[in-house]
Amino acid sequence: MGLDASKIIRKQGSSTLRAVEGGVMKQMSLWGLIVIPFALLAVLGGITVYWFSTVTIANVSDNVGLHYMREIETRVYDRVNEFMAPLNTIAEINQQAIGHHPEWLDDLDFVAGRLYEQALPYPYMTFISFATADGRYVNSTRDPFGDSHHVATNYTGEPGSLAAFHYDPLNYIGARMLDEPAYDGYDPRKRPFYQDAMAEQGMSWSSITPYFGYQSLGVGLSTPVYDQQGQLLGVTATSVALIALDKYLQSIGLVEDSYVFLAEPNGNLIATSNNSALYNEDGGLVKRVSLATHTNPVFHHAGERLTPGSHELMVGHDSYLYNVRAIDLPYGKTWYVGVLVPESYYAGILKGFSQVLVLVLIILFVSFALAGSLIASFIGQPILRLNEAITANSLTRIRQLPQPLSRVREINSLGRRLQHMAHELSDTLQNLEQKVAQRTSHLKDENELLLEQSTTDELTKLYNRRGFNLLSEQAHAQAQQQQRSLCMVLCDIDHFKLVNDNHGHNIGDQVLEIVAKVLTDHFRPTDIVARYGGEEFILITVGMTQAEVTERLQAVSRVLKQHPMPHQGTITLSYGMTHLESSAQMSLDDMIHDVDTKLYQAKNTGRDKIVS
Ligand code: GH3
Ligand code: MG
Ligand code: MG
Repeated sequence: MGLDASKIIRKQGSSTLRAVEGGVMKQMSLWGLIVIPFALLAVLGGITVYWFSTVTIANVSDNVGLHYMREIETRVYDRVNEFMAPLNTIAEINQQAIGHHPEWLDDLDFVAGRLYEQALPYPYMTFISFATADGRYVNSTRDPFGDSHHVATNYTGEPGSLAAFHYDPLNYIGARMLDEPAYDGYDPRKRPFYQDAMAEQGMSWSSITPYFGYQSLGVGLSTPVYDQQGQLLGVTATSVALIALDKYLQSIGLVEDSYVFLAEPNGNLIATSNNSALYNEDGGLVKRVSLATHTNPVFHHAGERLTPGSHELMVGHDSYLYNVRAIDLPYGKTWYVGVLVPESYYAGILKGFSQVLVLVLIILFVSFALAGSLIASFIGQPILRLNEAITANSLTRIRQLPQPLSRVREINSLGRRLQHMAHELSDTLQNLEQKVAQRTSHLKDENELLLEQSTTDELTKLYNRRGFNLLSEQAHAQAQQQQRSLCMVLCDIDHFKLVNDNHGHNIGDQVLEIVAKVLTDHFRPTDIVARYGGEEFILITVGMTQAEVTERLQAVSRVLKQHPMPHQGTITLSYGMTHLESSAQMSLDDMIHDVDTKLYQAKNTGRDKIVS
């Protein structure tokens, strides 16, 4: 019922629908709307990851490596400059000050105090000394490994003997330190610092050597001091323990397998980050360790490329970024700081970085996918259901949609409204169908009535000629089908005109009614008894013998003769009868023609008889 009704609606609405669907606006499916953006996002994400992991990360990794190295290098550079600065500053101050005050040399104790005080802020300032041109000598001595700081002279104790003394803030030279050894016959003018300065005729660097008695390399600056007239007053020297730099490099806290070193241009090491020996003493002979002779293959390879700039080193299977920077110290001294960082370090960092990136992207994708599936289940699914129900052309399907349809308010309201409309439409259609059914049955009744009226004779209530025509054909066909006999009788009231003429038309009608009733009473309900015209009646029976029919007709005549009539007269009938064993023998028209002829014969041969 619902289906039919929906189809009617569909038929009416389909043209409008097509017009909208095929309209100007380009349309896409809901899945397309959800899937395409996610597919695009996935492609974009993939490209981003690829770009980051290959192109960018390769660049970034080198930059990270270089950046790290520069950072370390700069720290070392600054530290070395800061550490070495007092060396020349103090030497220059003393050169200037003593040069302008040659009278100080008359009180060398004062100079010793001054040197001591100069060393106070610098724990690694091992020696600050002054040697006079006439062979006197004072210094400040600091132990780079301990607290010991004192002064020494070669003139206070035994003449010519270098001895250590406590510093005395008032007299400068305090008590003798007996635990410190004394050196007899100490002539500073024979020492390398003095001779180098004199040879150089200016500020002169000593070579880097291990200190006697201290496990440290040391380096010094010495310079001749002249008075205002250019007269040589002596030589002043400063010396620093380089162990501080070695400690510093070890304290930097480099990433694993990285190295920092400080070396002279010839490769001799000054400090390293890995606490290895910087010199060896072989039978009293001191031998500095250089990059080239270092046991660590990384240093060994680094020595071969000791030139300022960035290099890539292959040590075995490991690749290193290697950077060398020159540190220019005053008075023409150059040192190199070298930094080596294994590629695996920054590659590792960046691998971690790209892993994090991939993880973030995966989380993003999962979030997007979740959002997508939420949209799909909250919006897509219900809309698809709605669409399916609507395109199924079934009001029932729409009415059966689950409630609530979605968690989205608007979609829910859409579903509810649609269901409401479907319910209303169903009710309306049901009413309509009921009305149509009522009308149809009414029409059917009216039709039946009309048919009955059009086939019934009003006076006698028998079939009229029209009714007879319809039924006679059926009877003819039925007899033929069932191979049964067929009998037709045409009968006419004798001298009926007289009844009318003598008693009036009304009486005539009453007579007609009586004749009709008697005829009907003598035949079966299945036999056809019809009023053929005026006072003529026609009969058709199927499956009755001629004798039987004749017998019934005779009975009719008998009954009529005895039947009281309104005009007090007697009524007789004349019959023309045709009996066929098979209806195939004759057509209906021929039968009618035949009975008519026989009735005519009956009329012409005395009436009140059956002619067959
Ligand atoms: P016959 O024996 O030769 O049949 O004589 P008849 O007088 O019956 O013959 P006819 O055919 O000349 O007369 C028939 C009459 O039947 C004429 C008509 O007035 C009368 N008649 C026909 N139809 C009706 C009817 O419906 N009512 C009445 N009262 N009379 C009718
Ligand atoms: Mg007649
Ligand atoms: Mg007649």
